[in-house]
Amino acid sequence: MHYKSTRGNSCVHSSQEAVLKGLADDGGLYVPDHFTYFSINDLKAMSEGTYIDIANRVLCRILDDYREDVLKQCIANAYGTGFENNEPAPLVSLDKNTSVLELWHGPTCAFKDMALQLLPELMSAAVRDTGEEKTILILVATSGDTGKAALEGFKDVDGTKIVVFFPEHGVSDMQKLQMVTQEGANVHSIAISGNFDDAQTGVKNIFTDTVLIEELDRKGYMFSSANSINWGRLVPQIVYYFSSYAALLKKGSISCGERINFVVPTGNFGNILAGYYAAKMGLPVNKFLCASNQNNVLTDFFQKGIYNRNRDFYKTLSPSMDILISSNLERLIYDVADKKAKTVAKFMNRLKTEGRYAIPEELHEKITDIFYGDYIDDAETSQVIARYFKNFGYLSDTHTAVALGVLDRYREAFEDETHTVVVSTASPYKFGKAVAQAIIKNSDLDKYSEFELLKLLEKETAVKIPEPIAKVMEKPVLHSIKCSKEDMSKTLRGLL
Ligand SMILES: *Cc1c(COP(=O)(O)O)cnc(C)c1O
Repeated sequence: MHYKSTRGNSCVHSSQEAVLKGLADDGGLYVPDHFTYFSINDLKAMSEGTYIDIANRVLCRILDDYREDVLKQCIANAYGTGFENNEPAPLVSLDKNTSVLELWHGPTCAFKDMALQLLPELMSAAVRDTGEEKTILILVATSGDTGKAALEGFKDVDGTKIVVFFPEHGVSDMQKLQMVTQEGANVHSIAISGNFDDAQTGVKNIFTDTVLIEELDRKGYMFSSANSINWGRLVPQIVYYFSSYAALLKKGSISCGERINFVVPTGNFGNILAGYYAAKMGLPVNKFLCASNQNNVLTDFFQKGIYNRNRDFYKTLSPSMDILISSNLERLIYDVADKKAKTVAKFMNRLKTEGRYAIPEELHEKITDIFYGDYIDDAETSQVIARYFKNFGYLSDTHTAVALGVLDRYREAFEDETHTVVVSTASPYKFGKAVAQAIIKNSDLDKYSEFELLKLLEKETAVKIPEPIAKVMEKPVLHSIKCSKEDMSKTLRGLL
């Protein structure tokens, strides 16, 4: 299968190349030139299988240039261990029409694990298959979740090395502790004095520093990236849309072929786009509800057909969705614009120069046929957490609560009874401070540390703290390198 750039001026001949390259040379994103199709019988067959069985069925058809036995081994390595109860994506029923797909039972307790447990395996296999002899050097700038999930995914994977830069004072105590206690012989996490943008700029500078690239090339390294526009990060996420449908079939909650809704808490538009691709491949979907926080650039896009990033940026209780440029939206526009790369390039150029673009009415109608967008603010997010705990005994994190809140509003407005899967992206204990404040009505919670708050929350709700979070509190600190934002490439040279 060929992969083309959404902007039209780059093409690679296999998913392996797309996975290793990440971003296309023209600045666009790689997309496959056609989609495979899963029939009703395929869906029925999936309902008999485990997550790994379903992943094998789905991924062997999509990543058809990998040797089947190699790909199955990658999948077994990624999902065979490391997820609680060996269930990577359990589906929890709330009521007759509502289920929650929990994607946070992996090693870092957030949904990034679903992709970042498999991506390193896919890269490593692609390197072996293409005869590449260099060690892949992954550089990540992180504001929290991605860095830890990437460290866990790449740790001790043959032929790879990973270096994560995080802002020393720009991540939560929990996120920092998760990164500085990281085990593995090929991993480094480095605190930089500066904010997330400084870390990101520093990494971008390293990627384009030709002197450094040559120097590392001589030492046997090639750079790659693990961020969410890589095809290898998107494609593992298609699997759980199928697995949730299979679970509903198995429980008898829906009949085969019946359409369902998904509501997805969205930032960079990677997760929800994977759902859209699943629908293109035959998954029966009625609507995708795109849920945002107060950074509601996507809500406006779906409601008005105008993407406008010229607006205030808010730090919210759901920080992993605090984003004003949703990179993967480009792939959706390419698809609904009938693969007219020139049109996509024009919009993306406007976004860069003017910060906004408007799509024609005809495209907007096509998009709103299947997508609906809405948002809720922080105050409502806290109320939703409290309400769902009270009414259903269900404890959600702040990102999942945004999805639940948007679903409630949608149902009130449209009286749509379609069975809806709420895509849950983090353990409540990953964002425990905000969750504790929503649940425990006590005015002096501020005097507790984050870890004391988790214990209080556990006591109050009887929902157990997940093992990776409980354990991280006892682990020794293994990484203590700090550097200034100016010294990032010097520090990197020192490590290699
Ligand atoms: C990354 C993240 C999201 C947003 O996912 P996208 O694929 O960027 O839309 C939502 N919730 C959590 C907890 C995340 O870590």
